[in-house]
Amino acid sequence: MKKWQKLVTGTLTVAAVLTLAACGGQKAVKKTKPSTSDATAAASAKSAYTPTSEMKSSYDVVIIGAGGAGMTAAIEAKDAGMNPVILEKMPVAGGNTSKSSAGMNASETTVEHAQGVADSNQQFFDETLKGGGGTNDQALLRYFVDHSASAIDWLATNGIVLDNLTTTGGMSVARTHRPSDGSAIGQYLVAGLEKNIKSREIPLFVNSDVTAITEKDGKISGVKVKVDETKTKTISAKAVVVTTGGFGANKAMIKKYRPDLKDYVSTNAAGATGDGIKMIEKLGGATVDLDKIQIHPTVFKKTGYLVTEAVRGEGAILVNKAGKRFVNEMDTRDKVSAAELKQTGQTAYIIFGDATKSAVKAIDQYISKKIVTSASSLTELAKKIGVDQSQLDKTVASWNEAVASKTDSAFGRSTGMSKAITGTYYAIPVSPGIHHIMGGVKINTNTEVLKQDGKAIPGLYAAGEVTGGLHGSNRIGGNAVADIIIFGRQAGTQAAAYAKK
Ligand code: ADP
Repeated sequence: MKKWQKLVTGTLTVAAVLTLAACGGQKAVKKTKPSTSDATAAASAKSAYTPTSEMKSSYDVVIIGAGGAGMTAAIEAKDAGMNPVILEKMPVAGGNTSKSSAGMNASETTVEHAQGVADSNQQFFDETLKGGGGTNDQALLRYFVDHSASAIDWLATNGIVLDNLTTTGGMSVARTHRPSDGSAIGQYLVAGLEKNIKSREIPLFVNSDVTAITEKDGKISGVKVKVDETKTKTISAKAVVVTTGGFGANKAMIKKYRPDLKDYVSTNAAGATGDGIKMIEKLGGATVDLDKIQIHPTVFKKTGYLVTEAVRGEGAILVNKAGKRFVNEMDTRDKVSAAELKQTGQTAYIIFGDATKSAVKAIDQYISKKIVTSASSLTELAKKIGVDQSQLDKTVASWNEAVASKTDSAFGRSTGMSKAITGTYYAIPVSPGIHHIMGGVKINTNTEVLKQDGKAIPGLYAAGEVTGGLHGSNRIGGNAVADIIIFGRQAGTQAAAYAKK
């Protein structure tokens, strides 16, 4: 029986549900330098990139940033009969999108129907609003849920099939759509979008850093793009779509909007520097919620590598230097992060055993990245990581009793309690890290960029993490990918319609 069949027939174990839920919608982890797998992806995608020499001085629609939102917008603009171009400042496409793991939330989809999942757009709306602390832009949210099912179909039509359902934190039904094999969505989505860009012969220039959006007679007229250290090119366009992502990799902006987070490590791709926000502000565009920044509690500090929630969901605990637990590890990201920051060194250790290791595929990657310490006894593990030895022994023993009795009297944890910590013991040091920017530029449901007075800037569109409002004060896992596809499509469609006028 496939995983989704188990899920819909209700035989999926609690632990498995938690694993799936715990994947959490992160648009996660990337080192500033491309890894081997990034390099491999880059090499295979290389032929999709257009040589700089072919860059023209005029296009119908210029799209800034080749993440999920930008590539989606380009496909829609092209299919609407326009001639779009994508300008990407990094050497590879993908941005934070390529790191997303959980999947794409959507309601009333053909996939849900086929698998017997009862869901409704209203329920999706209500749960996202609740997760966002009630502060979400409700017009955007309504558009989002109502266009989620068609976005899943649109992806499938374009060969990107998300027919494996799971659940993320804050969602009550299996509405997170993933690749058939249940793997992380990011690389699959980016590869699928790149394929569509290539087959439509949409020019995609990398190493092309857009430094300004130009205006003429009160309308957007194009962009200025740096194509090498010394050369800046001016490109004219009828419409410009900004899909530059967030600013999770820009320390100065983090410091400006959230001084309390200034020393945090970031899980973000190197290109997430807030350029779109700055360029749009220069044009008088409004912003919302720039101080709403999602922190992820389990990030390997030295590299910004994110350790998925699935590890805790499959039975890991967090301990401090004294070898003690200090929080319900399955609480929301903000609460677990806050508790970690109160510990010595603002650091904790994720501790788990063999059963958890076997249940979470990603742990093998963590081992190969050398961020995991292992030992055959807890005493040895404690010694290796510098944690109080006798206390760690006691903590794990009492945790294993809590697992056996399904009662965590210490912190009231009720999920991720099906696996005792036994066999070989493992530890990963973690700290809270900057993960997702909820805020951004203000748009309406047509993805038009708005000024302070609520009027649209003619010819300027934005979609994805660069925009704000949809998620309110807290983003639900699986909603970031839904955001980039749903509003990326809308941006491409609207920009093309405007360019045709
Ligand atoms: P989203 O999830 O909203 O699509 P991503 O982070 O996946 O956002 O993608 C945004 C992309 O925009 C990244 O690949 C990033 O390198 C690119 N980008 C950011 N700023 C610029 C810029 N000034 N010029 C060109 N590309 C940019």
